[in-house]
Amino acid sequence: VLILDPKQKILFDGSISRSAGLPKPSAKEIITQLNANGLLKKIGKGIEGEHGLLALKTAPMMISVRPIHKSDKTGAMRGWILFCRYVDPSNIKRLGAMTRERVELIYPIKNTSLAAQTAFDKEEPKLEAISDNEIVGYGGVNDVHGDPGLAFKVTRARDIWHEGVSAITGLQLQMLAIALLFGAIVYGILNKFAFRRIESLVTQVNSLDKEQLSQRVNLAGKDELTTFASAINGLLERQEEATIQLRESEEKLRVHNDSLEKTVEERTKQIEHQAFHDALTNLPNRALFHNRLDFAIARMPRNAGGIAVIFIDLDNFKVINDSLGHHEGDLLLKEVAKRVGDAIRPGDTLARLGGDEFTVLIDDIKTEEEALEVGRRILEALKTPFNLKGRETFACASLGVAFSTDPNRDGATILSNADAAMYHAKANGKSALSIFNDSMNQDLLKRLDLETALRKALANGELSVQYQPLIELKSGDLTGAEALLRWNHPVHGSVPPVTFIPIAEETGLIIPMGYWILEQACIEAKRWAEEFDKPEFVVSVNLSGHQLQREDVVERIQEVLEKTGLNPAQLKLEITESVLLVDRDGVEQKLLRMKALGVWLALDDFGTGYSSLATLSSFPFDTLKIDRAFISKLGEEEKATEIVRAILALSQTMNLDVTGEGVETEDQMSTILGLGCQVGQGYWFDKPLPADAMRRRFITNLPQDNAA
Ligand code: C2E
Ligand code: CA
Ligand code: CA
Repeated sequence: VLILDPKQKILFDGSISRSAGLPKPSAKEIITQLNANGLLKKIGKGIEGEHGLLALKTAPMMISVRPIHKSDKTGAMRGWILFCRYVDPSNIKRLGAMTRERVELIYPIKNTSLAAQTAFDKEEPKLEAISDNEIVGYGGVNDVHGDPGLAFKVTRARDIWHEGVSAITGLQLQMLAIALLFGAIVYGILNKFAFRRIESLVTQVNSLDKEQLSQRVNLAGKDELTTFASAINGLLERQEEATIQLRESEEKLRVHNDSLEKTVEERTKQIEHQAFHDALTNLPNRALFHNRLDFAIARMPRNAGGIAVIFIDLDNFKVINDSLGHHEGDLLLKEVAKRVGDAIRPGDTLARLGGDEFTVLIDDIKTEEEALEVGRRILEALKTPFNLKGRETFACASLGVAFSTDPNRDGATILSNADAAMYHAKANGKSALSIFNDSMNQDLLKRLDLETALRKALANGELSVQYQPLIELKSGDLTGAEALLRWNHPVHGSVPPVTFIPIAEETGLIIPMGYWILEQACIEAKRWAEEFDKPEFVVSVNLSGHQLQREDVVERIQEVLEKTGLNPAQLKLEITESVLLVDRDGVEQKLLRMKALGVWLALDDFGTGYSSLATLSSFPFDTLKIDRAFISKLGEEEKATEIVRAILALSQTMNLDVTGEGVETEDQMSTILGLGCQVGQGYWFDKPLPADAMRRRFITNLPQDNAA
C-alpha cells in the first residue's frame, strides 16, 4: 500500500509478502509507471480514480489509485492512496480453478510475439486445435495506459469436437446401413431383370461352336439387353459371312498355290528341256546329241555292232530363207525335221545342230550298208517338194554318213567325219549321199584352205575366163561362146568350178566374181564382134542365184553393158532352174526387166530339176539348155532319146531355141541335130578356151584341138 502527498512524496510504503519468490515491489517503479502519461496527476482532478494493470519488470501488478480528500470533500486534494498486488502463479491457478480451464500466464508479453499477435487481436481471437484432444486460445489484458500488459493461454480438452466426431461417425454408419439395404434391394431387382439375362447371354456366347457358323444367341424381352443380344447376333452374322469369305479365299489360294507349284514344276521341266532342245523344231540340240553320242560309244562293246552318224545339210536353205523370208525358212526346217524323223526308227536320235544342219544318230547298226540305206531313205523323203507360201519348193539336201565300230573313236571325230562326208556329197553335185573315208578329211582341210585362198583370188588376178564355143549344128558356124570361170591357184593349180563355185556362193564372193566375169565377157565379145565383123556373136554368162536375188541385179547388168558398150543383143544370161523356184514372182519381174534391156535369157541345165517345162513357160526365156546328163545317155538309154525328143517338141511350140550341152561324140551331135536341136556345145566341138585361143577360133572358125 502506498500513500503519497500531493507532491507525490511517499508518505507510506507498506507491504506484505503473499507471492513467494517475488521481491518487494519498488514504489518508485510503480509511481514512474503510473506517471507515464501523466495519469497520476489527472486522478482527483477530473478522473475519480483508476485501476488496472501495471507491467512491472518483475511481474504484472494490479493497482488501484484513489485521491485523498477531506471527509466532506472540501478543500484541496491531500494526496493519493495506492493498493498494489502482483498477479502471481497462485492467482493464475485460482483463475484456472474458477474457469475449470488450464490457464497459463504469458509475461512479459514484449518478448512473446505470439501473444502479441493473437491475444490482443480483438477482431479475430485465435483458436487453435493443437491435437485431436486439445484446443488452445489466447486472451490479453491491457495495462492502465491501454498498452498490452499480459496474456493468458487457455488450453481446453476437445470434448465437444469428440462428441461431434462421434455424432458424425454414427450418422455415417446409419447412412451406410441404409445404402447397403438400398443396394440389396437394387441388386435383387437387377438380378432378376439384368444379371440372369446377361449370364444367359454369356453362357450362350461361351457355348458358341466355332464350326457352326449359323448359330445365334437368344434373349427374351425388349430392352437394351435384347438390343445387345441382337448386336451380338449381327456380329455373329458378319463373322459367318467373313468366315465363309475367308474359306473361299483360302480355297482360291490353295488352288492358286497348287497351280503355281505346277507352273514352277512345268517351268523347271521346260527350262531343262530348253537347255537340251532346239526351240524351233523341238529336236535335241547339239549338247544333247553329243551326250547321246558319247553314251552310244560307251555302250558299243556290249552291242556287238556299230554306230552311225548321218550329217544332213540343206543345199539351198540360205536362198529360200533370204528370198521367202524367215517365217517360210522356219516352216521348211520344221517340215524337214518331220520328214527325217519319219524316215528313221523311233529309237534313233535326230538332232538339229543349228541353221540347216541336222544329224541322226543310229546307235545299234551292223554294217555300213545299213547306214547308207537309212541315208537314202532320208534323201528320198526330202526330194518331194515342200509347200511354202502355197508354192512347190525344192529343198535338196546333201548327206554324209560316218560309221564306226571302234569304241575308242570319240564322238567329236565321228561327227566331223560325217560332216566331211556331207561336204564331199555336196561337192559331187548336191542332193547326194556320201559315206566317210579317210581321204575326205584331206578334202575338208583343202576346202578350208581354198576358202581363204579364194578370198584373195580376185584381187591377186588368179581368176580368168575361158570361152567354150557354141556351134550352130546345121551350118557348123560359131554363133557364140559360154564364159566359164577358171581359178589358177598358185599352189593347187587349176581348181575346177565345181569345187570353188559352191564356196564362192557360200561366202558371197560369187557376187563380185560374177560381175567381174560379166564385164570380161562383154569386153571380149564387143572386141571380137568388131574385129571379126560378127555383130550377131552372142556371149553367154552364167548368173548365180545369189546375184539374181539381189535387188540391184538388173541395174548392175545395165551398168556393165553401158560401161563396156556391148550391144545387149550380144549378151545371153544363163540361169539354172533351181533359182527360179524360190520367190517366183520376184524372179519373174527381174527377168522381164533384163529382157527389157535387150539381153537374151537361157534356162541352164534343163532336165536336172523337178519342174516341167510347162511350169517354166511363164518365164521369158529364149533358150533352153538340155543338161549334159541327157546328151551323154543318148544312144545308150532309149528313154533319154525320148526325153530329148519331147523337150525339143515342146520347146518348138513354146518358141524356144534349144542348145545341147556336153556333146562329146559325133553320134550325139547327129542325134540332137536329127531331133531338131539348133545349137550344140561340147568337147566334140571345143573345150573351153582361154581368151586368146578363142580369138584364134574366130579366125579359123574351125574346131580346134585345144586343151583348156
Ligand atoms: P555349166 O553352166 O553347165 O557349164 C558347162 C559345163 O560343162 C562346164 O564345166 C564345161 O566345161 C562343161 N562341158 C562342156 N562341154 C562338155 C563335154 O563335152 N563334156 C563334159 N564332161 N563337160 C563339158 P565347168 O567349166 O567345169 O563349169 C561347171 C559349172 O560351174 C558350170 O556348169 C556352171 O554352173 C558353173 N560355172 C562356171 N563358170 C561360172 C561362172 O562364171 N559363174 C557361175 N555362176 N557359174 C559358173
Ligand atoms: Ca552354163
Ligand atoms: Ca549347163
